[in-house]
Amino acid sequence: MRASDVRAESAIAGATAPRIAGLAEVQRALLAWHRRHGMGAPWRTSRDPYHALVAAVMAQQTQMARVLPAYERFLAAFPTAEALAGATTADVIRAWSGMGYNQRALRLRAAARIVVVDGWPREMEALSTIDGIGPFTAAVVASFAFGRPAACIDTNVRRVLGRLAGEERITPAALRRLAGEALVVRKPARWNQALMDYGARICTPRPKCDACVVAEWCASRASKTRGTKDELPSDGRRVAEERATYEIDTTPKRMQQRRRVPADDAARRYYRGRTIDLLRGLAPGGCIDVDALPPLLGGRHPKPSLRQMRAIVASLVRDGLAVLRPEAVPPAVSLPED
Ligand code: SF4
Repeated sequence: MRASDVRAESAIAGATAPRIAGLAEVQRALLAWHRRHGMGAPWRTSRDPYHALVAAVMAQQTQMARVLPAYERFLAAFPTAEALAGATTADVIRAWSGMGYNQRALRLRAAARIVVVDGWPREMEALSTIDGIGPFTAAVVASFAFGRPAACIDTNVRRVLGRLAGEERITPAALRRLAGEALVVRKPARWNQALMDYGARICTPRPKCDACVVAEWCASRASKTRGTKDELPSDGRRVAEERATYEIDTTPKRMQQRRRVPADDAARRYYRGRTIDLLRGLAPGGCIDVDALPPLLGGRHPKPSLRQMRAIVASLVRDGLAVLRPEAVPPAVSLPED
């Protein structure tokens, strides 16, 4: 059944739930594409849930090219969940070097501490009750490591499924339903990987429809060729929106405005990251005067004032990423060596 037939049938039936035309053919075509063009990564062939957990947490908000070397480094430092669970905060933050969004490292350790004591749940629902494991990570661990029928939903998967069903602004609830219906339950890991890779390489924010192996079943493509208002997204605003989910915010101010990220927030986030980078570079136990930080930070944003710098440090302390040294006058900051 073609995409246009599904639309017509849905209109007649008054149905509103998004569907994918020719689902069995789409599944076959995407799995075949993945066999030839899928991205190789060490955690994809591993059945160790810890490997899947580390990779899934790293992959959130970070491009895969940066995840690969960081994953190897992190596993060299903490080869098992037990090793990570017993690590100090400072060592975990040091091993997270180059990844940004450092709180993810602490959430990862929090999850490791729980599974080391309670064991690994195998189902997505149980995994997602663990502190530090969200639905996407839970689905990755359940499907990659345990072969459970759990659908991974990230920005790429949302884009591919939404377009195939002709619902690019699909609601989260409808997307969850659609992803569950589309899941190849015999091969959940391969199917999840196929969708993620397809969204990263072919059905990108600017889709390569001419090279698409499922174009004949794609409702968005059908709409486009009919010239309806359901245009394929190709404008810069949408591209920036998609990239924002994956990238750490180090782009020029012009791009930040297109993403509608307030410049102050972008600067604050940037200087939080730079402060942690500086602390990471110190010898264990080392600290830096808070008031000496602004000229050391560099970067393209205006330098923070002393008051702003102290607020940035206070936010890092609140998040457990840094500690103030009470003995130091003036105040000094370091990584938590606990
Ligand atoms: S035809 Fe284009 S929009 Fe549709 S799934 Fe293929 S690449 Fe994506």
